[in-house]
Amino acid sequence: MSDYRIEQYNEVKKEIASALASAGRAPDGAELIAVSKTFPASDILAVYNAGQRRFGESKADELAAKAAALPGDIEWHFIGHLQSNKVRSVVAHAHVIHSVDSAKLLERIERIAGEEHVQVEALLEVNISGEASKFGLTPEAAEELARQSIGMHNVKVTGFMTMAPEGAGEDELIRVFSGLKKLADRCGLGKVSMGMSGDFKTAIACGATLVRIGTAIFGKRDYSK
Ligand SMILES: *Cc1c(COP(=O)(O)O)cnc(C)c1O
Repeated sequence: MSDYRIEQYNEVKKEIASALASAGRAPDGAELIAVSKTFPASDILAVYNAGQRRFGESKADELAAKAAALPGDIEWHFIGHLQSNKVRSVVAHAHVIHSVDSAKLLERIERIAGEEHVQVEALLEVNISGEASKFGLTPEAAEELARQSIGMHNVKVTGFMTMAPEGAGEDELIRVFSGLKKLADRCGLGKVSMGMSGDFKTAIACGATLVRIGTAIFGKRDYSK
């Protein structure tokens, strides 16, 4: 991995810091998740060696292979759509699952994490924009599920995640991101996962505590490989 990606990583960290400062937020108010999906373990290791410890993956098998090959102190975040037959594998490797979009899935994670004797943190994926093509719970369903989760022992719901609709303008971004932040405040949950390479500054201005950034660090993904 050439140095320009390390430069991009350092640039992203600077941009996060300046977005936090502009919003009058604490310097450690937003954690960076380096989204490494489709990139090889060697690329992850280079960014790891530059100091990054949180990485995001969206496929269970890819996560398992990378977790086995890379240092044990990496904190893995699962950000993809989670199929029920992949829960056991994901629970074994991920510290945080960002994409819980049904009560059934959350209950399954609770049961399997118990069987595997692990604790996992979960965020509920919310479809704030109401876009039909998107995964995610309605805000009302997410609030209800957050309440139901209080009695669970092996999975802890700590907040919410959303994705802005593709091609959204600044006003729409603000509406979606502020909506998720308000939902988290209303539920008394502190974690708000929102913002990707193209929109993380707006997300931070709206209160994001976790930003998921791939392209701006690693470059364009090649899905044909
Ligand atoms: C791929 C992905 C990202 C990163 O997107 P970039 O535009 O490459 O920064 C963030 N969140 C989710 C859920 C993703 O699938």
